[in-house]
Amino acid sequence: MPEIVTQCCDCGLGTNVAGEWFVAKDKVWDEAWPADRLKSWHYLPGQMVLCIGCLEKRIGRTLCATDFTDEMVNRIDKVGISDRMRSRLAADVSLPIRKRGRPKGSKNRGKPRCRRLTKGTGSDFEAEG
Ligand SMILES: [Zn+2]
Repeated sequence: MPEIVTQCCDCGLGTNVAGEWFVAKDKVWDEAWPADRLKSWHYLPGQMVLCIGCLEKRIGRTLCATDFTDEMVNRIDKVGISDRMRSRLAADVSLPIRKRGRPKGSKNRGKPRCRRLTKGTGSDFEAEG
């Protein structure tokens, strides 16, 4: 059996072991891997592996059924797939992900959400979360 690298590039999760070995459509993959950031070595096998969670983090939304290709690996009845992968395969719509903190090494898109409070109230800021 050939050894294939199946570790998530972002978090190191063994996607095959975790049951998150899937093929996303090109447009999804393009979002997750902006062409201007790709190096030639990225095209080697196993260099662009992401788990569900990290792929979703990169594209800023959850995956849904239409984000997956028709490949056999994306079968919802496949043995051993993770719960979250199964739920994504069954999802009709994708939902935006609420970001917590900012991802390392990437510029923040959009403005951070903060509540503007009236000056001089003397009260503490309300921290969310
Ligand atoms: Zn990951």
